[in-house]
Amino acid sequence: VSVSLVEASAWNRRFAVRLADGSTVESVLYRGNTLCVSCQVGCAVGCPFCASGSKGLLRPLTLEEMLLQLDQVHSQGHALERVTVSGVGEPLHNPAVLRAFVEVCKRRRLPVSLTTSGGPLVRLREWIPGPHNGITISVHAGTEPVRARLVPRGPSLDTLFATLAEVIPTLTGRRLRKLALAYLVIAGENDTGAEIDAFGERVQRLGPDVRTHLYIYNPVPTGPHRPVDDERYQALCDRLVERGIRVARSCQARVDPNGGCGTLLGLPATSA
Ligand code: SF4
Repeated sequence: VSVSLVEASAWNRRFAVRLADGSTVESVLYRGNTLCVSCQVGCAVGCPFCASGSKGLLRPLTLEEMLLQLDQVHSQGHALERVTVSGVGEPLHNPAVLRAFVEVCKRRRLPVSLTTSGGPLVRLREWIPGPHNGITISVHAGTEPVRARLVPRGPSLDTLFATLAEVIPTLTGRRLRKLALAYLVIAGENDTGAEIDAFGERVQRLGPDVRTHLYIYNPVPTGPHRPVDDERYQALCDRLVERGIRVARSCQARVDPNGGCGTLLGLPATSA
């Protein structure tokens, strides 16, 4: 077991944590105090823009391996204040370990958020109300063909939004503020006005308090996908804002090449 610094920038520090069986997962320290951890080696969802899942799912992490990422980065002299399970893997595909991890972090007074592609929906339904400090659901599309292409083994948009429409009215205002949707803008994939309008219509039907993160894409070496230019990104933001949707833009730590959606690696023992 070991940790090594892969890359550092003004905003982020990216670490490779080598596990006892020789496989490796990556963790990113955002802004010096928030650690993004991995929950699986690889991922079964198969999003084509994502380096983390490019080799499929190799195995889930154990609770000890998730905690190891915290402890290894802490041992490098970084005092952690928050954790997000948004690295390699789909957290809702490893739910028992996720729940135990959240419990341990709670005892350590570390708030935990997570990012999920939404499935299985029965677990999403359980997890939206808690126990977490924030849940971001990756949507990335407004129409079913684009969703099926970008999030191939996630739930369809119709079933995902139907679940959200059922759960959201049951949430308190405080819990609703912990929920966000994510739309990662990828050139030539989901960047048309029609696609963002279709997404916007679905979000509008959920009510005015649901937040959307519109993310800038960071290219990864495992695929050909590219970000849109600043002008296009701004136009898509404006289009959602004009509908009354609450949109948050990518912060600098996410725009940084060693941060952002789908950039972390999970490597099997043979390549580690
Ligand atoms: S984006 Fe998330 S859900 Fe999709 S393959 Fe990558 S790690 Fe899995």
